Amino acid sequence: MNRLAELIRALPAADVQLIQKDLEEGNLSRVLRERLSELEMPQKVCPVCNAPVGDDAPFVLYFGEIVRKKARFDAMDCLRFFLNDLEAEKGKRSGERRVRSG
Ligand SMILES: [Zn+2]
Repeated sequence: MNRLAELIRALPAADVQLIQKDLEEGNLSRVLRERLSELEMPQKVCPVCNAPVGDDAPFVLYFGEIVRKKARFDAMDCLRFFLNDLEAEKGKRSGERRVRSG
């Protein structure tokens, strides 16, 4: 996170505002996931809590309708959180049905 903070501090105000907007709209995690999948980097940390995970991760999820992706999780809570996030994004994409409650 320190490195990310440095990166953000170095960005012009307009870019920081864009990142803020993406973060609020929930786009940032999707962009990161897509980028990771593009890079085809071996996943070394849980996407939810950043705990180290390897090939022996207790929970592995294959997902994606167009591009098949794989995510490893260190705990059931993280998998659940990830699925909820995924579902929220999917709902958002298919017509803004969900109303944000907080
Ligand atoms: Zn985790």
